[in-house]
Amino acid sequence: MAFCLLCGKPLDHATPPEHVLLDCLGGRKKSKRLLCRACNSRLGGTVDAALARRVAPFRAAHHLPGGSRNRWPDGPPDPAPPPLDDDVARAAIAKMGLLLWAQGLGAAEMARPCWRAALARLAEGVPPPPAATPLLVPATPLNAEDFGPWAHRLWAFSDDEGRVLAGAALYGQPGLSLELCPAGAAPRRHLLLLADPRRPAHWAELGPRPI
Ligand SMILES: [Zn+2]
Repeated sequence: MAFCLLCGKPLDHATPPEHVLLDCLGGRKKSKRLLCRACNSRLGGTVDAALARRVAPFRAAHHLPGGSRNRWPDGPPDPAPPPLDDDVARAAIAKMGLLLWAQGLGAAEMARPCWRAALARLAEGVPPPPAATPLLVPATPLNAEDFGPWAHRLWAFSDDEGRVLAGAALYGQPGLSLELCPAGAAPRRHLLLLADPRRPAHWAELGPRPI
């Protein structure tokens, strides 16, 4: 039996799947073992919706489908990549990184006390505090260029002390790196997801694997 990461409610086959890479980004990776219907819906209306509004003009300009529907948003198009360096992007990247970690490492990992603060932030839909976190991207055998010029990269990894950094580079842009957990998580693990926003079925993942 799986339980909601945020409220602890039991999850079952009727639980709606949660997107790890957000639907508005063309994300196809989903899990029914992360969030209950109510928590999924609440974050969908806040964190997810804010990023969806942000990327809608770019998707409209380039006809980029969502993960669930083969349709891009109506509305005014803008061919320039959306700005993704503020709290809207940080909250979405923190959420996606945490869900990537949680689905890869499992419930026993997420029960570690070190995750309480990150889970509390996720419940509120707020990003981690702005720590000085350089953009760190572990080496990978996967090649982002295989996923087109606007490839999304979403990753999370930990160091020897179990400090977990998550990051994302969306639409081929440079990306953001955030500290999800200062110490105490599973050490030396790496997860990565790559996806082509032009073709949502074209995605790949790596890990969790040791680094
Ligand atoms: Zn819940």
